Amino acid sequence: MSDHAQALFDGIRQGDRGALARGITLVESTRADHQQKARELVSACAGAGRGTRRALRIGLTGTPGVGKSTFIEAFGMLLLSKGHRVSVLAVDPSSARSGGSILGDKTRMQDLSVAAGAYVRPSPSRGSLGGVARNTLDSIILTEAGGYDICLVETVGVGQSETMVADMVDMFVLLLQPGSGDELQGVKRGIMELADLVVINKADGALAVPAKLTRIEIMNALHLMIPRRSSWSPKVVRASAITGYNLDRVWETVELYFTKLRESGEWDALRAAQQEKWMWREVSNLLLARLNRDPQVRLLAQTLEADVIGGAVPPGIAAEQIVDRFLSSARRQT
Ligand code: GDP
Repeated sequence: MSDHAQALFDGIRQGDRGALARGITLVESTRADHQQKARELVSACAGAGRGTRRALRIGLTGTPGVGKSTFIEAFGMLLLSKGHRVSVLAVDPSSARSGGSILGDKTRMQDLSVAAGAYVRPSPSRGSLGGVARNTLDSIILTEAGGYDICLVETVGVGQSETMVADMVDMFVLLLQPGSGDELQGVKRGIMELADLVVINKADGALAVPAKLTRIEIMNALHLMIPRRSSWSPKVVRASAITGYNLDRVWETVELYFTKLRESGEWDALRAAQQEKWMWREVSNLLLARLNRDPQVRLLAQTLEADVIGGAVPPGIAAEQIVDRFLSSARRQT
C-alpha cells in the first residue's frame, strides 16, 4: 500500500475525522492515481471490518421538505445517546446536473455534525450520479473502518439514486408526511416498494391526527405490494423529528428488523448478493474507465461519433468497432 493510503488508513482507524474526510475525498476523485490509492485504502478498510460486528447500513429517502435533515439530526442524536457511533452520507442527484448541491447549501444537522461519535459528510459534488452512488459504498466502508456502527445514507427521493442506494444498504427507510396519501406525495411506486420502514414524519400539532389516517392509507398500499424480504413485512410508524415523538419506536423497529434478518440468515444473503452485484458493476466501471483513457480508442471514437451523428454508421456497428479497437490495443500493451 502507498504511504499516502497507509497514513489515511491509520488515521481512520484511530478515529481521526479529518483522515476520514480526506479518505472519502480520495474515493470520490476521478484521477487515475487517486483511484489506485482509493482502491488500496478501501480494501484495507474492508479487511479491517472483517471479524467485527457488522455495521447497520440504512438508506433514508423522501421528497425535499419532508424533514430528512431534521429527522436524521434528531434520530442520530438518539442513536448517540444509546452509545452508537453514527455516520451520515448523502447521495444527491442534483450534483449530477449542476455540479452543485442542494443538500450542501444549507447548514445541516448542526448538533449531530459537531457531536463526538458522529461523522456527517457534506453532500458529494461529483459529476455523474453513477459515480456518486458508486463512491458511496466505498465511503460507507471507510466510515465503518472508523468505528461508525450505524451508517445513514440519505437521498432526495426524486431520481434513480434510490435504487442504487437500496442496493448498498441493509434497510431502506422512506419518510412521508401526513396527508395526500392518494398520490403518495409524489413518491414513485417503485420507491414505495423498496421501503422496509415508512416513517410518517411531522406527526405533531395539527398534523398528529391526519398522520393516523396517512399511516392507514400507507399500510393499505403496502399490503398490495410484493414483500421484498421473506423475514419481514414493511412497517409504518408515525413520528416527529421536531418533538421527538416515537423516535424510540422507530429505533425499536429498526432493531427488530435487523434481528429478524440476522436470525433468518437473510442479512448474510443480502450482503453476499450485494457484493456480487457490486463486483460486476465495478468490472464495467473499470473497463469503461480504461477504454475511455485509451488513446487509440479516443482517436477512433472521434471519427465514429461524427459518423454516427451523421447517420453514416449505425450505433451498434460503431460500438463494436470501438470495443474491438480497445481489445486489440489492450492486447498490444500486455
Ligand atoms: P428535507 O428537505 O427533507 O431535509 O427537510 P428538512 O429537514 O429541511 O425540513 C423541512 C421543513 O420541515 C423544515 O421547516 C422543518 O422544520 C420541518 N420539519 C421537519 N421535521 C418536522 C417535524 O417532525 N414536525 C414538523 N412540524 N415540522 C418538521
